Amino acid sequence: MEQQQLRRMRRTVAGYAKADSIAQPQVDGAMLVNFCSNDYLGLARHPKLIEAMQEALARYGAGSGAAHLVTGHTAEHHALEEELAEFTGRESALLFSTGYMANVGAISALVERGDLVVQDRLNHASLLDGALLSGARLARYAHGDAEDAARKLGEATAERGLLIATDGVFSMDGDIAPLRELASRARAREAWLLVDDAHGLGALGARGGGALELAGLDADAVPLLVGTLGKAFGCFGAFVAGERPLIEVIMQRARSYLFTTALPPAVAAAARRSLRLAREEGWRRIRLQENVLRFRAHAAERGIALTASRTAIQPLVIGDAARAVAASDKLRAAGYWVAAIRPPTVPPGSERLRITLSTAHGDDEIDGLVESLAAVLAATPHQRPT
Ligand SMILES: *Cc1c(COP(=O)(O)O)cnc(C)c1O
Repeated sequence: MEQQQLRRMRRTVAGYAKADSIAQPQVDGAMLVNFCSNDYLGLARHPKLIEAMQEALARYGAGSGAAHLVTGHTAEHHALEEELAEFTGRESALLFSTGYMANVGAISALVERGDLVVQDRLNHASLLDGALLSGARLARYAHGDAEDAARKLGEATAERGLLIATDGVFSMDGDIAPLRELASRARAREAWLLVDDAHGLGALGARGGGALELAGLDADAVPLLVGTLGKAFGCFGAFVAGERPLIEVIMQRARSYLFTTALPPAVAAAARRSLRLAREEGWRRIRLQENVLRFRAHAAERGIALTASRTAIQPLVIGDAARAVAASDKLRAAGYWVAAIRPPTVPPGSERLRITLSTAHGDDEIDGLVESLAAVLAATPHQRPT
């Protein structure tokens, strides 16, 4: 792995420069500006979240003590599930400890050997792993291509259950799945559609309803919605939302739900507060979008070619692992933390700098990043998006 420039290194965060934000971490003795976290709305260190967590800690302690179906399900978890169901406009929501576990659990609970799961080629690893674990047949369609998805479904003959699964906002590219087309293709074949909107919920749409709000799709069109609480909501955890009977089946059968300890109740309490802030403080989404536009406009002025992504995720494809790592190192030396993303997270040949914008970034920080990027890219052969 080392020879192929694929060995990854962790960098240890020692603290943060500001009291209410994680956007300016101290790493290896230097203060950096973080342009690769998923704390899109700048909520991870909000004083209200910390306060909610402290209150719940005093009331419930540090750990939940057991799985949800044993004795670990507290009033905080329950209230959070009800609030998530209401927020997503669905009958019911089920809390998982992580998004990885939500996807693996939901898919393997709903399909089995003899069924077919059709997935976008660039879906998050947890969606693909869920299909592999389920024993169903997995077919992958060309990225963002609903017609190819329909073709893959069309090849299904012997299969019983059909499921299409897609990221809402693609985690490494920032583009949005063709959700309206996928919904109508799924409906035509009586297939379930599962949308994992880990990067859209909270961050996109006037109400923070994510990619589905932008597409104007309701619970009928998309029966299964997965969301995470560790990204725009700045906490930890995840959920699957949908019709009550479907959610009940997942609760009864998902092994990543049954055989694991419930989230700490204090984390659920912080997530409830975060959900409220994300809903009420629409200015956070407006500011995020302004930051995305500012970054794109300045990058264009400096001749940096960006993809068409309009979300907080702005990738710069370098196309080679060693060069991507070298570019990331140079940016860090200039004070900007932008991780190099390599296989298996992205396909070989599409190694990249995955830049993310946050509400917590200031104008000067964004402008400074663009200046440093322009200098680094001028000295780094890279791909120009088509
Ligand atoms: C991050 C992510 C997940 C996993 O969520 P965690 O809560 O971090 O485990 C799932 N799906 C997508 C699309 C993601 O980006």
